[in-house]
Amino acid sequence: MALRSCPECRKKISETVIICPRCGFSFQEANLEIYRQKLEQQRLHNQEINRKSIKIHLFWLFIFSLVIGIAGWLTS
Ligand SMILES: [Zn+2]
Repeated sequence: MALRSCPECRKKISETVIICPRCGFSFQEANLEIYRQKLEQQRLHNQEINRKSIKIHLFWLFIFSLVIGIAGWLTS
């Protein structure tokens, strides 16, 4: 018998079960659709955060090289 993990509580449950016995998550088509949308939103949200953190990293890299540059200029 095949098992799948509940997307809500990660418990392994039978594929034939429609509602998770632990948390009550329903695998019915409508709910799966809502869940997929939620995942998609989360993915987009994470992408947005990644973009922001890359910008911050680039900013600090810029500051860092600026400081190194100034230090080199001052000591030469
Ligand atoms: Zn569950």
